[in-house]
Amino acid sequence: MEKVTDGLYQVGKGYQAFIIDGDEGVTLVDTGMPKKTEYITDGLAAIGRRLEDVRHIVITHAHIDHIGGLSVVKSGSEAEVLCSREDAPVVQGEAPMTPPPMMVRFPFLKIMLKLFPEAEPVEVDRLVAPGDTLSLSGDLTAFATPGHTVGHLSFLLDRSGGVMIVGDAASANKKGKVVRGFFNAPTPEIDASIKAIATHDFTMAVFGHAPPIRQGASGAFAETAAKL
Ligand SMILES: [Zn+2]
Repeated sequence: MEKVTDGLYQVGKGYQAFIIDGDEGVTLVDTGMPKKTEYITDGLAAIGRRLEDVRHIVITHAHIDHIGGLSVVKSGSEAEVLCSREDAPVVQGEAPMTPPPMMVRFPFLKIMLKLFPEAEPVEVDRLVAPGDTLSLSGDLTAFATPGHTVGHLSFLLDRSGGVMIVGDAASANKKGKVVRGFFNAPTPEIDASIKAIATHDFTMAVFGHAPPIRQGASGAFAETAAKL
C-alpha cells in the first residue's frame, strides 16, 4: 500500500485501486483483479479499517483489473456500487467486456485476455453522470473521459489541492510526464479526454497503471494536451 496524501491510499501491483478514508467510512475507487482482494483488505487493515467500513465503491470503468474484486468486496461490505450508465451493463454481466484500445496495435493480446478470469456480475446501485458531485467520504466530481471504454469516468477528489483519479484515461511515465499509456491507442476520443482533464485545476493525479504525480499534475496534463 502507498499513501498518496492524507486519507488517500493506493493498493495493488501493476494495477491500482484507491482507498479514500473519511469520517463517513471508506470509499473505494476500483477493486483490482479477481482473487486479489487481499490487496484491498490488507490496505484497509493498515489504516485500521475493515471491509465492513466500505460504504461506496466507485468504478472508473468495466475492465477486469478494475472490477475483478467487486463481487467479493460488495458481498463483504454491502457497499453501494456506483458506475457510469455506459459501463454498468458490463459490470452487471449483461454485456461483454470491451477490449482496451491497445488491442488495435497488438491483436495477439486478445488471446491473453481470454486467459483472465471473468468478473462475477454485480448489480450497480447508482448510475453516475458526468458532472455529478458525489458526497461520499471525500467529495468526488465525475468527468466523462471516454476512449479507453465508452463510459470511462475520471474523478476529481476535493482534497490536498485536488487529486485527479484518472483511471485508465491516461497514464504517466517514469519522469512524471502524462502519456496515453500502454493500454490506449492514439484515438480522437482518448486525446479529447486527456485535453478535457487538462482543463481542470488539480495538484496530484493517480492512475490505474502508473505511479502518482504528486505535484503540478494539471500542468503535466496541459503540457501533453498541448501536443496532441
Ligand atoms: Zn482498463
